[in-house]
Amino acid sequence: MTAQNASEPIGFSLVIPVLNEAAVLPALFERLDDLIVTLDAPVEVIFVDDGSTDETKSLIRTRAAADSRFRLIQLSRNFGHQAAITAGMDLAEGRAVIVMDADLQDPPEVVLEMIAKWRDGFQIVYAERTSRAGESRFKRWTAHLFYKALRRIAAVDIPANVGDFRLVDRQVILAFRQMRERDRYVRGMFAWLGFRQAAVRFERPGRAAGETKYPFFKMVRLGVNGLVSFSDAPLQLALWIGLFVSLGALGYGLYVVIAALIGGHGLVPGWASTMVVVSFLCGLNMMLTGVVGLYVGRIHSEVKARPLYVVDAPETAGQAVVAAKP
Ligand code: UDP
Ligand code: MG
Repeated sequence: MTAQNASEPIGFSLVIPVLNEAAVLPALFERLDDLIVTLDAPVEVIFVDDGSTDETKSLIRTRAAADSRFRLIQLSRNFGHQAAITAGMDLAEGRAVIVMDADLQDPPEVVLEMIAKWRDGFQIVYAERTSRAGESRFKRWTAHLFYKALRRIAAVDIPANVGDFRLVDRQVILAFRQMRERDRYVRGMFAWLGFRQAAVRFERPGRAAGETKYPFFKMVRLGVNGLVSFSDAPLQLALWIGLFVSLGALGYGLYVVIAALIGGHGLVPGWASTMVVVSFLCGLNMMLTGVVGLYVGRIHSEVKARPLYVVDAPETAGQAVVAAKP
């Protein structure tokens, strides 16, 4: 390992969130070494440990002790992928910051193409997946549907098939640091930020080792976050469904009243229809209250204004807490 000139400003920061990635770290270190030697500016590699319980931390610590370009930011517990990314970006010092997964599904070589685009003047370069190897048909299908729905209803143009693998210019990072919303959908936040954006396309390989840290329920939570943070379409839908059903109920009410006035029939035998209408309306009411509840829940977590993550490492804690303030 060659030592870096400490006085030279950092050119590139690689931000890598890790949760129990011990199985893949040796391979990742190798690929990172291959990448770093081709870069023509000083590099820092920031690993954000998101509450790992395996050897992840000690592997990174050993590496960081031998190579000053590697840093470990240890969160005090599992705060989730999006918060871990945020922690890394809060502390990154490079002129360009690159966020990537640890499992080599975001191939380090693609970073070179991103840097080329950045040098062409783009301030955000995101990686678009042309294919997704090693992911179940179900995951591909749900991802496809989700991106389609999100693109249709979101207030900003969030590119499809784009994850969190991207290069971001320092200027954009400074703007991003001002966005302290608690329920974070980072890829949407970058779409919202604007700036000059470009894509590089890549074939997404399967995980190099280890298991996915995104089980189904976590994926759903991320998806709901994306929808609710970037769209009020669910609220509007609730309004329209409410209006539509009220009109139906009004029509049915008129029919009942008129039928009762004319013939007096349909009063006692109406049990089945009454039950159907009442239970349907109850269900609808609860569902729509739930939609409103989603947004109220978000207001609640914003009002609490807790830090987005907590760092458990004395040498960096002060910095991180300052950075976490709005
Ligand atoms: N990750 C994390 N915190 C979490 C879940 C995941 O830091 O709560 C990291 C994980 O270690 C990996 C990246 O986020 O580097 C993406 O996770 P994963 O590869 O398991 O997701 P998938 O590619 O299966 O969607
Ligand atoms: Mg992965």
